[in-house]
Amino acid sequence: MKAVICSGGEFTVSEVPAPEPGHGQLVLDVAYAGICGSDLHARGHADEVADLMDRVGQPGFMRSAERVVMGHEFVGRVAAYGPGTRKRWPVGTRIVALPIRKCGDDAQLTGFSTQSPGAYAQQVVVEEAMAIPVPDSLTDEQAALTEPMSVAWHAVRRADVSRGRTAIVVGCGPIGLAVIAMLRASGVKRIVASDLSQRRRELAREMGATTVVDPREQSPWDAYTAKNEIRRYSELALLGISTMKQLRIVDRLPWWKVFRLAERIGAVPGGPVVFECVGIPGMIDSIIAEAPLQSRVAVVGVCMEPDTILPALAISKEIDLRFMFGYDPGEFRDTLHMIANGKVDVRPLITGRVGLEGTAAAFDALGDPETHAKILVSPTSSATTPEPVA
Ligand SMILES: [Zn+2]
Repeated sequence: MKAVICSGGEFTVSEVPAPEPGHGQLVLDVAYAGICGSDLHARGHADEVADLMDRVGQPGFMRSAERVVMGHEFVGRVAAYGPGTRKRWPVGTRIVALPIRKCGDDAQLTGFSTQSPGAYAQQVVVEEAMAIPVPDSLTDEQAALTEPMSVAWHAVRRADVSRGRTAIVVGCGPIGLAVIAMLRASGVKRIVASDLSQRRRELAREMGATTVVDPREQSPWDAYTAKNEIRRYSELALLGISTMKQLRIVDRLPWWKVFRLAERIGAVPGGPVVFECVGIPGMIDSIIAEAPLQSRVAVVGVCMEPDTILPALAISKEIDLRFMFGYDPGEFRDTLHMIANGKVDVRPLITGRVGLEGTAAAFDALGDPETHAKILVSPTSSATTPEPVA
């Protein structure tokens, strides 16, 4: 079969042996495989990522000198089953699957390991246990976005945003845009998005942002009014004094109980939930410096360099810092069905399509935020540069 081999950061389309499914695994004929920021990063900085993955206990991540087939966001059709499978779906059934696969005693990340080649190829192997059939209402293109949208769904769930709380999305690349779509789908009413690129700001609005700012012109913190947010420490102290005056008007009122009750029903100051979707040094620190008191910062952007924060600043403002990565199988399935039932419209994100021969051109094109968000690779397309998706 044909596959795109990445080695030393260069792509070549080669003829390789057809993949053999192992125990409990099946082979898909690939329809589409998306390209994301992790792919761009792994192409150029594989060794750095591999060292990091070794530290978290994930051996086998691709090294730059190796020959790897990338592609971890895919949809395909069942071609054949390996031994020890239940053969749950007829050959030809459309499938999406979590890109992880058992290889010997370890699991490997499909599309980031020589042991589990990815989907920039005519075929890819998946675990039957990790595969989910695609509802008929979805096009192949939409289904191919299940994996990246799952990352955003996990981030939104883990950030625990209640509907009434303001969400601020800093950085509207593909992952920021996906986070906006998932915030919208979960009913969050005020979504402020910030990005330097005009094209991305337009997409942010299309995906459901209610306020969109160019950070060179307006700070996202000044772009909305939330009555229960506190920006200055002194305001918090003043609020404490005025509240206590009120509560102690009646002498025998157990004011401390009223105080706790107010806390339980949410009638106390609280900051927004801020999604950091840029991933460059200095972002977390600037958010901590500018966000209201008691904001929650959800770090989604993957910064690969050491980064500095001033803990005392975060402490004084009681900033809640959460990091998030990946998704679980339930979130993956939820996401597929949220796209299928129209809760999330991923179509504006899909800006181009290429054939296997166009993979290098697509990776290069994704470097320009004004043109593309998500480009899909299709082994049946002959396009060598990104073409519009019908
Ligand atoms: Zn991805």
